[in-house]
Amino acid sequence: MENSALIRTVNLTKIYPSGEQPITALRDVNLVFQAGEFAGLVGPSGSGKTTLLNIVGSLDVPTSGSVEVLGEKIETLSHKKAARLRNRHIGFIFQTFNLLPVYTVYENVEFPLLLLGMTAAARRKAVRDALAWVGLSDRERSRPAQLSGGQSQRVAIARAVVKKPDLVLADEPTANLDADNSHHILHTMEDINRDLGTTFLFSTHDAKVIAHLRRKITLVDGRVAADEARTT
Ligand code: ADP
Ligand code: MG
Repeated sequence: MENSALIRTVNLTKIYPSGEQPITALRDVNLVFQAGEFAGLVGPSGSGKTTLLNIVGSLDVPTSGSVEVLGEKIETLSHKKAARLRNRHIGFIFQTFNLLPVYTVYENVEFPLLLLGMTAAARRKAVRDALAWVGLSDRERSRPAQLSGGQSQRVAIARAVVKKPDLVLADEPTANLDADNSHHILHTMEDINRDLGTTFLFSTHDAKVIAHLRRKITLVDGRVAADEARTT
């Protein structure tokens, strides 16, 4: 059997209707990602990074062209099937962490598992494992307001990986962190990529993150301007 890609975009184009002048956010993007990649989208603000991550994550649909994720054509999925794909297979990490403020660290990480029909005991084990991966086992009972930015983003990583998704999409995950915390976040994601085989696709402006990418895709005006593999 042919080695099937985790993500494949074919002539992916996204045009936002915006008054007189529609905005073309992505033009004919053709990219293939294999399972296990640790890849980043770089490029100036407005180059289409967030749009591409949102479409790959089935949070948005293309105007034309197609995106296949885990063998599913995103643009043809019903809302229900798209939700199922996200809930089971995709973890999200955002620039602003997006933790639920009234819930504890433990509850924030447990949240995605409540959609999966797991037993309480299985959830407990998964949450404890995920908090151990990010080095926050001692903060289970804290609430987001009691955490630093770096700790908050580590909780968000635990929440993204707790269900052992095939793919984690991270939109500028270190944009609100200082250099030390960015470094820590990056190492945490690299460890998870290596140990669990989780595929990571980021967007970033951060030179520190870019230096760690094994594949760097540069977007300019919605087009792929460069796609470089880094050999180590
Ligand atoms: P990046 O993440 O690289 O900064 P984006 O994907 O957010 O880029 O945006 C790409 C282009 O699409 C920009 O010109 C942006 O203004 C435009 N855009 C993004 N989202 C929308 C939207 N919902 N409606 C209209 N235009 C949008
Ligand atoms: Mg963006």
